[in-house]
Amino acid sequence: MPRFSDIIDQEQLKNHMQNALETGKVSHAYIISGEDGSGKEFVAKAYAKALLCESREKEGRYIEACDKCHSCIQAESGTNPDIITLVHEKPNVISVDDIRTQIRDSVIIKPYAAKYKVYIIPDGEMMNVQAQNALLKTLEEPPAYVVIIILTNNADAFLQTIISRCVVLPMKPASDDSIRKYLMEDMKIVSYKADLCTSFARGNVGKAIELASSDRFEGLKNNVIEVVSKLKGREIYQINQKIQEIIKCKNEDATAAESKKEALQNQGDMLDVLLFFFRDILVYKSTEKAEHLIFQDKLSYIRDISLNSSYEGIKNIFEALDRAQKRITYNVNADLTLQMLFLDIKENI
Ligand SMILES: [Zn+2]
Repeated sequence: MPRFSDIIDQEQLKNHMQNALETGKVSHAYIISGEDGSGKEFVAKAYAKALLCESREKEGRYIEACDKCHSCIQAESGTNPDIITLVHEKPNVISVDDIRTQIRDSVIIKPYAAKYKVYIIPDGEMMNVQAQNALLKTLEEPPAYVVIIILTNNADAFLQTIISRCVVLPMKPASDDSIRKYLMEDMKIVSYKADLCTSFARGNVGKAIELASSDRFEGLKNNVIEVVSKLKGREIYQINQKIQEIIKCKNEDATAAESKKEALQNQGDMLDVLLFFFRDILVYKSTEKAEHLIFQDKLSYIRDISLNSSYEGIKNIFEALDRAQKRITYNVNADLTLQMLFLDIKENI
């Protein structure tokens, strides 16, 4: 269950919430903004639980919920009637009806047990203008006990009138040191793998945890490097087949939207794997040492390719990777882009 001591970095945000818990100066509305995986839900739950706890106390640096009282136990099991998390019926939009039925009609009912009633709105950027206007009515005259926490990956999606009534708390990228420490100490991940996941996560704690704990990434990494190491003997159609196999979603029970999301994630991770792999090849070529490599488990491949390719060739590959990244960002046909990329790599190793 979320606790402040478990939130990695985010000092500014933690300070703000701790100060509110200490002084009782709690705002009626917050926007917590940050990319997917940055931990917005975790932070919101830690705050909601602490606000409602019947006997919170200072433990070490932080005022924390007790985790023992009735309110905390209910918060833990997701059944606390004073913590309401908005759900939306349509997958990509929060409609005016969602806001009316789940928030506007219920804010007038006093909290069951606590001093506060906390509403959490995940995917806040999905509120359309009508929904935002409906929410605005509540934000304009909120009952004293109401706290609304809007979570979003895009704070620009909100009307200025919404933003001006909220305390905006941005999630910042966590430091590599903090992420690495968490992976090694809390998740017991071995050091080279922790380094790898930290490099890939770029400050996103959720992404680091996903990379460290899922077979998806491990499989993808092995398959991508395998394809590169066998490029020489393969024809275009064979290479294409391999790329498609690597990218497609492996979960047969996934919905169409989930499959698409995973395929996009695999595509992005494939480019990242290539980027870090060739960076390793360059490092090894110039130092002949394994200690600074990200893919230490792929040393034999790295050594082979670095011996057989020139600095000029590796430079060409980095340029090809850069081009591919840009094309995909600008929605140029991804299949074709990846095919061209692998042909460029084939020519230069
Ligand atoms: Zn408690």
